[in-house]
This record gives sequence, structure tokens and C-alpha cells, in this order.
Amino acid sequence: MHRAGSGLLSVSMVVDLHTHSTASDGRGTPAEVVAEAAAAGLSAIALTDHDTTAGIGAARTSAATAGIRVLSGIEISTRWAGMSVHLLGYGDCLVGDAGLGAMLADTIESREGRIVQMARRLAAGEPGVDGDDLVAALLRSTPPGATPGRPHLADALIQLNVVPDRDAAFQRLLAEPGPYYVPYAAPSTADAIAAVVAAGGLAVIAHARSPHGGRTLSDAQIADLAAAGLAGLEVDHRDHDDAAKAGLRALARSLDLVVTGSSDYHGSGKQNRLGEHSTAPEVVEELAGRLGGRW
Ligand code: AMP
Ligand code: FE
Ligand code: FE
Ligand code: ZN
Repeated sequence: MHRAGSGLLSVSMVVDLHTHSTASDGRGTPAEVVAEAAAAGLSAIALTDHDTTAGIGAARTSAATAGIRVLSGIEISTRWAGMSVHLLGYGDCLVGDAGLGAMLADTIESREGRIVQMARRLAAGEPGVDGDDLVAALLRSTPPGATPGRPHLADALIQLNVVPDRDAAFQRLLAEPGPYYVPYAAPSTADAIAAVVAAGGLAVIAHARSPHGGRTLSDAQIADLAAAGLAGLEVDHRDHDDAAKAGLRALARSLDLVVTGSSDYHGSGKQNRLGEHSTAPEVVEELAGRLGGRW
């Protein structure tokens, strides 16, 4: 990304700071996401796969010819006050950072065991679903090296004709809380913010008011996370209604946090469309400046 004040960012730029690829639970490869973003007329995307930066190199290679920029990012699975909180991290410094990598390795290992456990529980509880078939389908539906997650189990259930699509799988069988839900080990949100900041990156709470099993982060909880080193809140996101957006915008102003917006694109696996929400160019420029242009 250009340095702040470079004047190269124009107000017509559309920047989507939250997208997923087959490096986690998106349906498109990094190259496909980049091609789709270019076709959609976006100027830049941040690739923010769950708990990994593994797709960024391939995305950058494609971006070089696609006429679009790829910014380094990640969406870290964390827990705070009993809630699952997704934390976006930004900056080239996050790719290959040893401290962050050690933290993420624990999460990935835990996710691997947990998703098989969910498959076994599901087969035990749902008539007509064979456990070995489901685990075999799960292995087929998880791209090599991908962060394994519930969307891959959803794809396995689609393969076995148990559900028609990921939405139905989440509604009927995979919800948290639910009979088949199994949690996984994740760092606290404050620890994850600290790891991002220690690496030299910037941390933004993803879909900051998404319901987590019916609960959402309170203003006081977000204020505590701001004090732990947060840079911003993702406000413009399809999980937020107008009231949630207004509340978050006011909170961001009072806590001196930047406001971002993004699609949370997962390819054909979710209804979110690339660029359906975006981040103001001046905010992108401010974040790029804080990262010393290394984004
Ligand atoms: P996990 O991290 O394995 O617990 O799975 C949560 C992920 O599932 C989230 O990051 C979303 O990307 C995805 N997800 C949640 N709801 C849906 C849905 N209705 N359809 C497709 N993907 C979903
Ligand atoms: Fe996801
Ligand atoms: Fe998320
Ligand atoms: Zn996401």
C-alpha cells in the first residue's frame, strides 16, 4: 500500500478489508478471489483468512497482473468473556511472524481435532449419517493446508445430500450453541491484540456486534479491548443493522478507533458479495501510514 500522504489513493478507490479464500473457509482460491475482486472493480482487498496468512503470497502473485492490490491480513479466532470474537490483523509484518505463528499453531491443532469430533457427534445424533462417510467427506471438502472449520463440515454434509447448502447446514446442525457444536482452543482477544501489536501490525475487531450465541460485546468490553491496543472496529458489515452501526460509530469516535467496512466474502459459500461494504479511502490511507506503508 502507498504511504500516507502519497496522494496515490483517490476517493474513488473501493477497498474491501475482509475476504476469505481456500486457505481457510472461502470457496475460491486466492487467485480466484483476486480475479473476482478485479472484475468487481475493487482497487484493493485484504485477504483475511481464519488463523493463517498462507494465501497471501499466491494472492499477491495474481494481483500483480490483475490491476488490483492485495493487502496482508488475517482473521484471528479469539475468545473474550465467554464469546467467540474475530480479530482482524493487518500489515506485512504479520506474515511469518514467529510469536503470532506459535499462537496460531495451537488454534489450528485444536481446530483439527474439534472438527472431526463435531463430525462424529453429528453422525451419532443424526439418523442416516454414517460417521466414516462423513469424516471421509470432510477430508475431501477441506482444501490441503486450509484452516479447518465448520464450513468444511457443511460442505461434507452437502456432499452426502444431508443439506442443500452451507446456510442450511449452519441453521439445522452446526449452530453455536447446538447439540453438535464443539469449541476449540483460542487465545484471549487481548492476547491476540498484543501479538498483532508486538509484530508491528494493526488490530481491528471484525463484525464487532455480531451475535455470539445471542450475546454481543458490550461498550465496556470494547473499551477494555481498545485499551489493550486495538486500532479499529469493523462497523459496515452485513451482520449489523442500522442501530448497531450507529452505536459502534459513536463508540469508535469516543475511543479514538478507526471505522472500517467490508464484505467478509467467502465465495459461493456465503451470500456476502465482494465490495458490498467497503472502507473509506482516508481510513485505508491512515492505516497504511501507521504501518509505514508496509501493507
Ligand atoms: P468455525 O470457525 O469453524 O467455528 O466456523 C465459523 C465460520 O463459519 C465463520 O467464520 C463463518 O465464516 C462461517 N459461517 C458462519 N455462518 C455461516 C453460514 N450460514 N454459511 C456459511 N458460512 C458460515
Ligand atoms: Fe469464515
Ligand atoms: Fe468472522
Ligand atoms: Zn471473516
